[in-house]
Amino acid sequence: MATNQELPRGVKILHDPVRNKGTAFTDAERDLLGLRGLLPPKKCSAAEQEQRILENLHKKANDLERYIHLVSLQDRNETLFYRVVVNNIEEIMPLIYTPTVGKACQQFSHIYRRPRGLYISLQERGRVREILGNWPHRDPRVIVVTDGERILGLGDLGAAGMGIPIGKLSLYTACAGIRPTDCLPVMLDVGTNNENLLNDPLYLGLERRRERGPAYDELVAEFIDAVQQEFPYALIQLEDFGNRNAFRLLEHYRSRVCLFDDDIQGTGAVALSGLLAALRLTGGALADQRILFFGAGQAGIGIGETIVAAQIDEGVPEEQARQACWFFDSQGLLVDSRENLPPQKQPFAHKHQPITDLAEAVRMLQPTAIIGCAGKPGVFSEEVVTLMSELNERPIVFALSNPTANAECTAEQAYRWSEGRAVFASGSPFDPVELGNKTLVPGQGNNAYIFPGVGLGAVASATSRVTDEMFLAAARLLARHVSEEDLALGRVYPPLTSIRDVSALIAAEVASIAYRDGLARREAPPDIDPASLLPGIREQMFQPIYPHYA
Ligand code: NAD
Repeated sequence: MATNQELPRGVKILHDPVRNKGTAFTDAERDLLGLRGLLPPKKCSAAEQEQRILENLHKKANDLERYIHLVSLQDRNETLFYRVVVNNIEEIMPLIYTPTVGKACQQFSHIYRRPRGLYISLQERGRVREILGNWPHRDPRVIVVTDGERILGLGDLGAAGMGIPIGKLSLYTACAGIRPTDCLPVMLDVGTNNENLLNDPLYLGLERRRERGPAYDELVAEFIDAVQQEFPYALIQLEDFGNRNAFRLLEHYRSRVCLFDDDIQGTGAVALSGLLAALRLTGGALADQRILFFGAGQAGIGIGETIVAAQIDEGVPEEQARQACWFFDSQGLLVDSRENLPPQKQPFAHKHQPITDLAEAVRMLQPTAIIGCAGKPGVFSEEVVTLMSELNERPIVFALSNPTANAECTAEQAYRWSEGRAVFASGSPFDPVELGNKTLVPGQGNNAYIFPGVGLGAVASATSRVTDEMFLAAARLLARHVSEEDLALGRVYPPLTSIRDVSALIAAEVASIAYRDGLARREAPPDIDPASLLPGIREQMFQPIYPHYA
């Protein structure tokens, strides 16, 4: 409970999104805080306020308008915003995150209303620590940072990519109860190569081309150093960096600071989890699978590396584990005769003749699973899915590219072309599909199943590093959490309504590993078993419930 002296009064508290309760301020609070006359007389319950928000939301003409409505609420009243999100997660998540957030980023400079987070541009080199000092909340625990070069499947959106860190951090709070004031979105603005943005007079970012020289690395290094000085317990999540930077920044920093890359490691874990759950339907072990990836970027390589790590952990030799993962990128099948491959692709360049047609690659390699993550819509054609269905009793087809329009095939196509046998998951949500007398429910391989829980575990233990084992543990836990009923419907992820429970369980696993491996910067409790850590973790989760001011 806040004391009187700390509280802003009058219109100041109404304009403070952290403390504002709007029409829910009680009579006593209105007297205490000088609010008499500043609000209509009716004292509304939070439930009534939620009803009003939803009523207005449903009247909006399109999803972008719904996004603006919700973000405006977040700027006015965070508690109510999170109440609406948590109580209506299946409806709201696609509005505050993918796919709608993609549209919001594309329109960012045109729908911009209020600032949120920190903008650190090349112009501020040498002053990053000072900028962090301007952040109004003490000691943030989770920072999501992007340079806007590869926003979802939409490419370079420059500073307009800020919608992504904001959206991801909303999910940290909604899905894992990280306190809103512990979340810091950061845009590292190093320019953009997007001509449309550079020609847009309203574009809000630096009006210059992307920095590719040493100044880029210097800004990133200054930012990471400044975070270590100002906010030493903060977890840093790298988000939507371009390929050329994402892998090397992760490699450079992961062993030095508490940092991970969600596009690589979070995607790896969520896809591995979907695969492990799918195997409960198809039968067979992970080590028996042959997986063909369409796309060898952060998502593809991240998933491949996670699958390899899981197999190694199960005792499979590394070479054999890598042989199970094949990649098809813009040049065709990734084979050992290809030259000038970037380091992350080299371990997956296997001995084989070159192939440039995906259907031909499926015919030759006979995969048990195909995973699409190249942002090329429609490449899982009828021919490809039919071939997969001839090769496998239950073909695994994951069309992970975002947003929805970029999916490699739709849920309906995957089910129809496989006569209902495909085990299908996608990156963006698809509605259930009626096929004959069956209803099939596609799973959404949403990273939100993994990163909020990993973040909560990192915060709870104040871990100094985020390890691969933490992501493996998260993936396995998530796969175990898929019920037999969900599987019977074809769904390889639990419903989003259980996400806060899942996040708490993942956090307990992550914290347990941090304590066991001596990475935690908090004194270990006597029993570091995940089950014993769980109640304490649950207790520290933010609940969107108004405080009483007295
Ligand atoms: P990226 O830019 O790092 O990689 C894209 C890859 O696709 C590159 O390897 C590129 O060579 C390849 N590619 C491009 N055009 C191709 C073509 N014509 N044929 C074959 N390959 C081609 O992007 P990323 O981070 O790997 O993301 C890729 C997609 O996956 C995006 O749409 C993204 O939204 C989606 N994604 C989904 C999830 C999820 O479902 N949870 C998570 C992360 C990313």
